[in-house]
Amino acid sequence: MKKHIQSELQRLEEKTQRRMLKNVSSSDGTWIVMNGKKMLNLASNNYLGLASDERLIEAGYQAMRTYGAGATASRLIVGNYELYTRAEEALKKWKKAEAALIFNSGYTANLGIIAALIGRDDIVFSDWLNHASIIDGIRLSGAERYRYYHNDLDHLESLLKQASPHKRKLIVTDSIFSMDGDMARLEGLVTLKKRYNAILMVDEAHSSGIYGERGEGLVHHLHLQDQVDIQMGTFSKALGSFGAYVVGEQWLIDYFINTSRSFIFTTALPPAVLGAIEKSMEIVQKEHIRRQTLQFHIGKSATHIVPIIIGSNKQTVQMSERLQEHGIAAVAIRPPTVPEGTSRIRFSLSSSLTKEELDWALERIAKVGREIGVIT
Ligand code: PMP
Repeated sequence: MKKHIQSELQRLEEKTQRRMLKNVSSSDGTWIVMNGKKMLNLASNNYLGLASDERLIEAGYQAMRTYGAGATASRLIVGNYELYTRAEEALKKWKKAEAALIFNSGYTANLGIIAALIGRDDIVFSDWLNHASIIDGIRLSGAERYRYYHNDLDHLESLLKQASPHKRKLIVTDSIFSMDGDMARLEGLVTLKKRYNAILMVDEAHSSGIYGERGEGLVHHLHLQDQVDIQMGTFSKALGSFGAYVVGEQWLIDYFINTSRSFIFTTALPPAVLGAIEKSMEIVQKEHIRRQTLQFHIGKSATHIVPIIIGSNKQTVQMSERLQEHGIAAVAIRPPTVPEGTSRIRFSLSSSLTKEELDWALERIAKVGREIGVIT
């Protein structure tokens, strides 16, 4: 076993695909100290700067003071603190949904939702660039899987046409693609799901807090909330905390409570996290200025996720190392996170950055890019 694993690690090393953990000693939403060096943080998902917000910290602290450091059991045993009830009520109001359920993380939510919804006799249609947690949920479900080319509705329709009309069908997509930063064609997906009698699930991990009048997500922004069957999202990105949610009709949520294994067989979230989640939903709905500032930073880019696709692993790692030397936290994203040959630096913007900081960073990114030969 050891020999085999060591040779696998060696193989990753040779492909410049071996990952190493970095040590973060402080982070304030804008600046991060990583491996002892202070850098402008262009790599986090803290899109609205809420992770270090004093109000979230205080709410988390108060919840921990009242209910303890740990939840002591799963939700169906004795871990379902009233904090959950409060947060889920707030979630329903925010998303104008009939029912809501909090999961421990986005990863486990996708696993649990998808594997509960579909099984061996069903068919799932999944965008080529969907997040790994969706892919793993599909694998776990054992359903027949079709991947449609990224955002290619014609391809999706041709696959839907071939599928047996008698089988249950699920279409699943990220709303904003995590590594490319482009948006799913949600209106077209709604048309197709109706035409072929499928249900549609949208993962709002990267759009919750950012799109929609009160940060409800891209589905609301496009006024599709009554036509998307399942909206899933996370509290771990723009909402600055941890955990995930799913909203939908009551029968769906009742079913997840009874059958989602990643919901049932795990300890409930720590009270501190639930306190922070509740506070972050309150802030995100009313502090429009955060969304407006982020929108201003986005400028002509598609969204707040801005990748520079380089291709080779080596050059991508080189670029990220050079950027870090110049004081910019930018991370090399390589396979299997992205397809072979599309390694990239994934920049992410945050409302907590200033224009001056971004100009400063842009100058350095252009300089390093030119030196390495990836920007002309
Ligand atoms: N879905 C998408 C689209 C994601 O990008 C991520 C996280 N990168 C997740 C789900 C998982 O969320 P979490 O980090 O809360 O587990």
